[in-house]
Amino acid sequence: MFADLHLHSYFSDGTFPPEEVVARGVQAGLGTLALTDHDTMEGCPRMAAACAAAQIEFITGAELTAEHDDLELHILGYFIDPENQKLLRELARFQIVRQNRIREMVARLNEVNVPLHADAVFALANCRSPGRPHVARALVQAGHCATHDQAFERFLKKDRPAWVPKAKMSALEAIELIHQAGGLAVMAHPALNRADHLISALRSAGLDGLECFHTKHSNSATRRYLEFAERFHLLVTGGSDCHGKSKGRPLIGTVKLAYEHVEKLKQKVAERKLATINGHK
Ligand SMILES: [Zn+2]
Ligand SMILES: [Zn+2]
Repeated sequence: MFADLHLHSYFSDGTFPPEEVVARGVQAGLGTLALTDHDTMEGCPRMAAACAAAQIEFITGAELTAEHDDLELHILGYFIDPENQKLLRELARFQIVRQNRIREMVARLNEVNVPLHADAVFALANCRSPGRPHVARALVQAGHCATHDQAFERFLKKDRPAWVPKAKMSALEAIELIHQAGGLAVMAHPALNRADHLISALRSAGLDGLECFHTKHSNSATRRYLEFAERFHLLVTGGSDCHGKSKGRPLIGTVKLAYEHVEKLKQKVAERKLATINGHK
């Protein structure tokens, strides 16, 4: 049994509807899927229904954009209660931050004589959690750039004309937010954030796990993070970070997490639930 615990749908910057994510997961032989859209859980009910229909396991999730010591970090939340009011309020707040950032990026594009309208980006994104990839797609669609990568290179990457810094919650807030919603907090793709030196501090702040297996982790990075996980008693997760087709082919199925890791996650959630119940007695 294998799992993919890092997947995006068109409820954030993925291109597949949740049903297609599930269909492709089944094709790839996966028995457990988690949906981890950026700053939203909107796709979870549909993903849950599609997994139930396909008779595979579904884990609710989200990927929160956070920062610690001026470094951007992505914190994955798993087994979070999708009805948790505090989490939903915070997600709504960050969705508005994202929408304002799109407007600012478009204003900067207009300043360098690229005529794009924010409404065109919102129409294309068609979700509450729009991001830079949507601006890139809008630039390609309007003929201003040949490819998504070119849009990032010319305009959207850090220090390019339309780059706008993103307001983020602190990593400690993200961990706390996930915990109070009954979930586990996991540092996503640590090799991409060069955040090794923060792992110990975040572990002390309650971080539960480390995404050791990721499409963009080399074998040596995977080994390094497995060692970190063991040293700091962190749970191990992994996923493809599939956003739809990437260079013609979806990434789902390229990272297959052994089910024993999912079992350990579930055990930790159950233990925490029990501790909370006992704590309230
Ligand atoms: Zn990420
Ligand atoms: Zn992701």
